[in-house]
Amino acid sequence: MLSNAGKAASADNRLYASELPHGADLILVHGKVWTGEPAAGTTKVVEAVAIANGRILAVGSDEEIRAYAGPNTTVVDLKGRLAVPGLTDSHAHFIQGGFQLLSVDLKDASSEEEFVRRIAAKARTLPAGRWMQGGDWDEEAWPSEKLPNRWLIDPVTPHTPVFISRYDGHAVLANSLALKLANVTKDTPDPAGGVIVRDPKSGEPTGILKDEAQELVAKVIPRPSELEMEEALRTALKEAARVGLTSVHDITVGPEAWNGNFTGEIELLRRAELAGWLTCRIYAITPIAQWKNLAEAAISHNMGSDLLKLGAVKAFADGSLGSHTAWMFKPFDDDPGNSGLPMPLMAPPSTMEKVAGGADKAGIQICTHAIGDRAVSTLLDIYERLGGERPAAHRFRVEHAQHLRPEDFARFGKLGIVASMQPYHAIDDGRWAEKRIGRERARSSYAWRSMLDAGVVLAFGSDWPVAPLDPLSGICAAVTRATLDGKNPGGWFPEQRLTVEEALRAYTLGAAYAAFQENDKGTISPGKLADLVVLSEDVFRIPPERIKNVRAEITIVGGRVVYESAM
Ligand SMILES: [Zn+2]
Repeated sequence: MLSNAGKAASADNRLYASELPHGADLILVHGKVWTGEPAAGTTKVVEAVAIANGRILAVGSDEEIRAYAGPNTTVVDLKGRLAVPGLTDSHAHFIQGGFQLLSVDLKDASSEEEFVRRIAAKARTLPAGRWMQGGDWDEEAWPSEKLPNRWLIDPVTPHTPVFISRYDGHAVLANSLALKLANVTKDTPDPAGGVIVRDPKSGEPTGILKDEAQELVAKVIPRPSELEMEEALRTALKEAARVGLTSVHDITVGPEAWNGNFTGEIELLRRAELAGWLTCRIYAITPIAQWKNLAEAAISHNMGSDLLKLGAVKAFADGSLGSHTAWMFKPFDDDPGNSGLPMPLMAPPSTMEKVAGGADKAGIQICTHAIGDRAVSTLLDIYERLGGERPAAHRFRVEHAQHLRPEDFARFGKLGIVASMQPYHAIDDGRWAEKRIGRERARSSYAWRSMLDAGVVLAFGSDWPVAPLDPLSGICAAVTRATLDGKNPGGWFPEQRLTVEEALRAYTLGAAYAAFQENDKGTISPGKLADLVVLSEDVFRIPPERIKNVRAEITIVGGRVVYESAM
């Protein structure tokens, strides 16, 4: 019935209205519904949508859609607001993101007093004995500009071991309870590569541990319990609904976090689904080291339910630009002896080819992190060989695809490889990337326009918690390329900017395609899953730099309202 509805509803809505004696479950009227469906060189926009049984029943004018109203129908007046297909994040570390939201946020604490106040507030929310982590504090932003110490926070954290990082990751502050649990005393010697900062008079550790000394305490922090993992997932789901995400391609945390049990995260997600609180569709991308487990269970790409799918694996080809570990053809401009390096799986590349080839033969989708131009190029060689006659059918993915040699764009497109990219990285890294790789290589970096011109499918995401989860800030980044330091208001390499439509497509249909789900998702079309977001402002009409302030006001997953902003 539903698949038929997909075909015929646009031809004759009334036919199906009569087949639903109690009417649609939900209808949205008086809106500007950007369906994402191509129509005569533009995109079809309608006033109203009818939803039944979790799927789109029909789209059309208010009058046409009102015909679906029955005694059991909820009618929502959009009051002229814009609705778009539910947004998908194609690359997020979902549980880690949840943990980040649960940890203490000290990033913009502007004084020592504020630092202590936030730690005290967080401690009150934690059960006794639970570790407080996170942080991102920066004492240079405080009037005192002095490193904090444990005596400052001990009075507000008597039962909470504290281990909070400086924003650059090179130092932590541990409180007295944490030092005690780790048995770090004035007699503990500094480890190689690290410093235990001490009070000049008493010789007592102040709680500041630099570089390798952090490990002295880090090693006694217990792995999160199953309950804590569940808390993190609930928190992440709430955040996804709040920012308008209806699907996430989740790079799972892997067995280390689950005491070696590779199915831990999947079991949790499944439990959430069965209990009815999985409010965002998840495509779980598991570490490539697990591909044989998937293959033995006959799990291949896009397998599972509408809410929870499996069958993709994540591999690493290289490191990152920030840490000079992206694998480049030529050395970094600011580190002339260094061209980065491949990850062990890529050294030699034949190892990757063998592993990825095995997974691919089992029907598992391959998603490979590649940032440097040499990593991307070498990976394209591998994908080309594995792809055989119909390379596009495999939907191989390159995660990040950050820096490319200009000659590789065409190859990327010809092989039908999906570029899973994160627009926010461009406006963040764009502040310093030219120092590292120079102007010429920066020109073909984060190069969305060049990708589209070469026929590449773009699937956008965030890389949360590395960048904010909010897809509107990603769309804003894609459309403006205005770096976070405010130095490129007209766009950093503005020729690579996208239109709002193109960016939206990469967060909807492109992302659906990247997971083999374009028949079910990515547009508001009869027969597809009823995933939609109502936005606070019309992103097509406002100045592009304001898109980052636009909010999701209603998030709908499978016809169910999972978030509604307080109006
Ligand atoms: Zn990532």
